[in-house]
Amino acid sequence: MEEYRQSVLYVEDNELNMALMHHIFKKKLPSVLLLEADTAELGLSIAGQQLPDLIILDIGLPGLNGYEALECLKLDAKTCHIPVVAISAFAQTSDVERARGKGFAAYITKPLQVTDFINLVKSLLAGDYASIAVTWEQNDN
Ligand code: MN
Repeated sequence: MEEYRQSVLYVEDNELNMALMHHIFKKKLPSVLLLEADTAELGLSIAGQQLPDLIILDIGLPGLNGYEALECLKLDAKTCHIPVVAISAFAQTSDVERARGKGFAAYITKPLQVTDFINLVKSLLAGDYASIAVTWEQNDN
């Protein structure tokens, strides 16, 4: 049985996006356990119990949206230190600025650029936040 050293929680209500993420992790990040939730409420529960190393949070969710879920994560002493990446189809500069202001570690737009995404996940799991600043700058263009 495979031993996972780190875990990532993906909160996403779209089944195809979730399936794609499982595929990416299996192929490119096989040592990382991918936890899944299809609502923010379930995601918050899993985050509090499993304390993943990174959370990837869809913005458009039924019930609580991604911004509201981020607030809950930041208010909880158990989860406030976990980096959270926003993933969204909303790609306007104002969306990116809003996400930066709210405390997301990074903002990724759909459709996913797989190679960039994997590099970002690897950087965050390694605690390399210097490269994340570059991600924000790229989004500004
Ligand atoms: Mn969604």
